[in-house]
Amino acid sequence: MQDGPMDAVNALNEIAFWLERELAPSFKVQAFRKAAETISGLNLDELNERARDGRLKRTKGIGSRSFEVVTQALEGRVPDYLADLRQRSAAPLADGSALNGLLRGDLHTHSNWSDGGSPINLMVAAARSLGREYLALTDHSPNLKIANGLSAERLSAQLDVVAEINDDDDGGFRLLAGIEVDILEDGTLDQTPEMLGRLDVVVASIHSKLRSDRRTMTARMLGGIHDPHTNVLGHCTGRLVQGSRGTRPPSEFDARKVFAACAENNVAVEINSRPERQDPPDELIKLALDADCLFSIDSDAHAPGQLDFLQYGAERAAANGVPEDRIITTWRLEKLLAWLKHT
Ligand SMILES: [Zn+2]
Ligand SMILES: [Zn+2]
Repeated sequence: MQDGPMDAVNALNEIAFWLERELAPSFKVQAFRKAAETISGLNLDELNERARDGRLKRTKGIGSRSFEVVTQALEGRVPDYLADLRQRSAAPLADGSALNGLLRGDLHTHSNWSDGGSPINLMVAAARSLGREYLALTDHSPNLKIANGLSAERLSAQLDVVAEINDDDDGGFRLLAGIEVDILEDGTLDQTPEMLGRLDVVVASIHSKLRSDRRTMTARMLGGIHDPHTNVLGHCTGRLVQGSRGTRPPSEFDARKVFAACAENNVAVEINSRPERQDPPDELIKLALDADCLFSIDSDAHAPGQLDFLQYGAERAAANGVPEDRIITTWRLEKLLAWLKHT
């Protein structure tokens, strides 16, 4: 991912990236992220000195593996552990690579402001290194307390951070301000219209009472879709098909009605790329296609390495015959932004 001499902080972060991408246990990933953070305040001379006199090894947050990585990077070479990971990760995650190559960005990601594992700047750095042109930051809304959802005040503060990152960026990359807002039980969105109006992108999702009966669920989803701020319907069935959180069947709702409303209201149906979600199921992707819906292939990444999950979503879209022009994340950014403003 990088040319030239190996920087120790970059080496540790790149290791974390590859581990996240292969769904390694979070404690293992966090050890490297923590080590990167620990040494990031030191200049090269200090770091070299501490590595030489052994202080680095005794520093809190530096494990034996991280120490080895840092010392090898300081020697100017690619650390063995990183070299192994690069080799192991050389193959693509999934098929559908032609479509994957057409994806310009990602409209659904989380930072450590809500339940993500990494600060915004690391998410941005990873998105850029993957060649993305933009990334939407869509942390959770207040109702999702378990995920540290953002109040209007915190979201407002986050908008300033997003603006700063965009001001500093000279490479043409754009961080979009967004939210993954809960569709509440009464079908309203869990954030003030004023705040939603300040955002570039609104992903609306359901995270509670997923077993409600079909009528209730349909009405709730239609409420979210009809809100003029909604741009993308997130992981529409809420199903879980694998992974550490166990499995969960898809919610029941009138998919024809829901997708017809999406098509009518300029709401894209998300193809959520997370391996444990794979949402919507194939038959619903086909229904949404028939309903003339647009799609957004999103990673729903909660860590930098998970941004590469788009490959899984691209594979599913390709397998279900979704044409590229119906996928808003293949569009040029200007076209996407115009559409997001609700043409
Ligand atoms: Zn969600
Ligand atoms: Zn999410």
